[in-house]
Amino acid sequence: MKSFAYVRAGSVQEATEAYAAHPGARYLGGGTNLVDLMKLGVERPAALVDVTRLPLDEVEELPDGGLRIGAMVRNSDLAAHPAVRDRWPALSQALLAGASGQLRNAATTGGNLLQRTRCPYFQDLTKPCNKRVPGSGCGAREGVHRDHAVLGHSAHCIATHPSDMAVALAALDARIELYGPEGARSLPADGFHRLPGDHPERDTEIRPGELITGVLLPAATAGLPSLYRKARDRASYAFALASVAAVLHTGDGVVDRVGIAFGALAHRPWRARKAEEALLGAAPTTAAFEHAVDLELAAAEPLRDNAYKVPLARRLALDVLNRLAPPATP
Ligand SMILES: Cc1cc2nc3c(=O)[nH]c(=O)nc-3n(C[C@H](O)[C@H](O)[C@H](O)COP(=O)(O)OP(=O)(O)OC[C@H]3O[C@@H](n4cnc5c(N)ncnc54)[C@H](O)[C@@H]3O)c2cc1C
Ligand code: SF4
Repeated sequence: MKSFAYVRAGSVQEATEAYAAHPGARYLGGGTNLVDLMKLGVERPAALVDVTRLPLDEVEELPDGGLRIGAMVRNSDLAAHPAVRDRWPALSQALLAGASGQLRNAATTGGNLLQRTRCPYFQDLTKPCNKRVPGSGCGAREGVHRDHAVLGHSAHCIATHPSDMAVALAALDARIELYGPEGARSLPADGFHRLPGDHPERDTEIRPGELITGVLLPAATAGLPSLYRKARDRASYAFALASVAAVLHTGDGVVDRVGIAFGALAHRPWRARKAEEALLGAAPTTAAFEHAVDLELAAAEPLRDNAYKVPLARRLALDVLNRLAPPATP
């Protein structure tokens, strides 16, 4: 392993300054993804800026009914937090569907959002990969791509984003809070991760040196019925083949609030805007759910070996929507 400097930051300011002072630095959260990639030689940071001691490990109730989650809050603590379990259950369910108990005890909110794709070619230095080495090619397109994207992929990359938590955050209209050389800003969770396009080496809209400081769950989705479901090869300790997070509320017999996001189908959590548009104002019937989900998944462009993901995602989405608003009529 290449040698690297190590700096433990005591404040957000110290962390961003240390990052700027060491070109090629990486922030270190729980290390459950970054250290693995360093062992494989995929990541070769000049310095690790350890951010685990930053005072960003609290979950704070906001006066307006929202929730601010510090970037260092561990995945297991977040999943178990009473406010998350009661008012944004899809987030708790998504976290518990990810990784293993030991990993969730170490993994942080910020690190989970910035974990890299699990594409095996990305992790193998002997294989071409445009995400790891821009311009080198994509080994997966003609190779093993059973787990890869069916929506929004490009000729340059067909990888999926692996985080379960990010899918729930996208459906729940969360925002990602950042601090960097240009100051503080926030981005919608839906829009934080990118589609690959011509630059698959860029996973997110984060700017160089920016630190994730927290996640904001808005009052607007607090207490609404929400659910997360994930299909995977094993009952635990496996990444999603397809997943769905949804929040759905009905009033006066029609859908008056809806958010749906798919996981493991694209390079980012896939917010199902077409399906949402079709459902808003409609009666929550089986036919309406089917029409909405089919409208969204019509954009799918499956590859040789992953067409199964489309009907799988369809069934998951219909199950979730039916559970959130049991249809009164067929
Ligand atoms: C065997 C295994 C199975 C897994 N299964 C799942 C699964 O089913 N679902 C799932 O969602 N995940 C799964 N994971 C992934 C796991 O959830 C992630 O490794 C973890 O969430 C990453 O968090 P971390 O704090 O350890 O991040 P790190 O490994 O510390 O960091 C990851 C990346 O984020 C950057 N970073 C960290 N914190 C910040 C910050 N605050 N601001 C800016 N940059 C930052 C780092 O520089 C690095 O690039 C699995 C992992 C393993 C090893
Ligand atoms: S799918 Fe993306 S991450 Fe995987 S080999 Fe192709 S370019 Fe690399």
